[in-house]
Amino acid sequence: MISVRGLTKRYGSTAAVEDLSFDVAPGAVTGFLGPNGSGKSTTMRMIMGLDAPDAGQALVNGRPYAELAWPLREVGALLEARTYHPGRSASRHLRALAAGGGIPGARVDEVLRTVGLSEVAHRRAGTFSLGMAQRLGIAGALLGDPGVLLFDEPVNGLDPEGVRWIRDLMKGLAAEGRTVLVSSHLISEMALTADHLVVIGQGRLLADTSVAELTADG
Ligand code: ADP
Ligand code: ADP
Repeated sequence: MISVRGLTKRYGSTAAVEDLSFDVAPGAVTGFLGPNGSGKSTTMRMIMGLDAPDAGQALVNGRPYAELAWPLREVGALLEARTYHPGRSASRHLRALAAGGGIPGARVDEVLRTVGLSEVAHRRAGTFSLGMAQRLGIAGALLGDPGVLLFDEPVNGLDPEGVRWIRDLMKGLAAEGRTVLVSSHLISEMALTADHLVVIGQGRLLADTSVAELTADG
């Protein structure tokens, strides 16, 4: 699971995230909803140990990312700023990631199959369409079979088929008992995807509620 406690991040005089606290429970898709610039990516980057908080903590399974013994086995993320070596094939990218993360190489073929990239695994990542690059990022996130998964605006720019695929994938991961946090600025997308909603505005928590509660009569 994920626990965010009093999390705060400032860039100069801008408070990107301000005293933010929420939990993300396993077995459900939790939507992280807020307009552009509300602090969703900054929060996810802190959960993944890519940015240091100015105050508070972001914990995965009770620990900061930097203290996880085998991070890839505990948490995987599809973040907005994905960095690929464009000259590397998809399978080489994943093999390098597996080797660095203490994950058996056989997992690479498995995750390539899961995301539907087996046929193009030998192609350079730099030649991939947005949808394929997205799938490669997801393959990386799934490589360590982690119990916690983060998706930052995963449906942006995808065609309807790609959107449906990612939505079904996230629901399947939650149904397996994993903790899934997905950000979006679109309430319409969250209504179709999430079981639970964490809503933020200007870096602050606005609501933390189940979708059933939101849509219940009376
Ligand atoms: P969201 O993901 O909800 O669109 P972000 O977390 O990207 O929001 O941004 C939150 C705020 O922090 C915005 O005002 C953004 O401009 C600012 N911000 C994010 N990253 C940086 C950075 N590296 N340097 C300066 N300001 C940043
Ligand atoms: P490098 O070999 O460039 O030093 P890293 O080990 O930091 O690389 O990461 C290699 C690639 O794996 C990067 O594209 C990074 O975004 C991705 N990556 C690292 N950790 C994770 C993770 N937990 N989930 C998904 N992708 C990850």
